[in-house]
Amino acid sequence: MKVCCDVFNELVADAGNRGYSVVACVRGSYRFFCLQARACPKLDEPKMKNLPKGIDIPNPLTVGMQIGIQYCPFCGTKLANIIAGSLNEFTRLADSNKPLLLGP
Ligand SMILES: [Zn+2]
Repeated sequence: MKVCCDVFNELVADAGNRGYSVVACVRGSYRFFCLQARACPKLDEPKMKNLPKGIDIPNPLTVGMQIGIQYCPFCGTKLANIIAGSLNEFTRLADSNKPLLLGP
């Protein structure tokens, strides 16, 4: 999918990895991107949730968070224009990103 800038392209490519990324979301009739931050890669999440008892960690432990965004966090492009220009590609990306989404 053609996006606004190299930074946003890298954020999309980093979905599921440790640190910041961008994931494509579909909720009902809404299509949007979410900025996501992960403390560890998606594949390592089970390790974070099964730490041995007796270790003093926050409980519950947050290993990731995300929030919907309307504009590219780097260049400020309105993301609805990117989505509208590549609707089929966005939908395919959202399908592949679905296992990475956080929250309900
Ligand atoms: Zn951008």
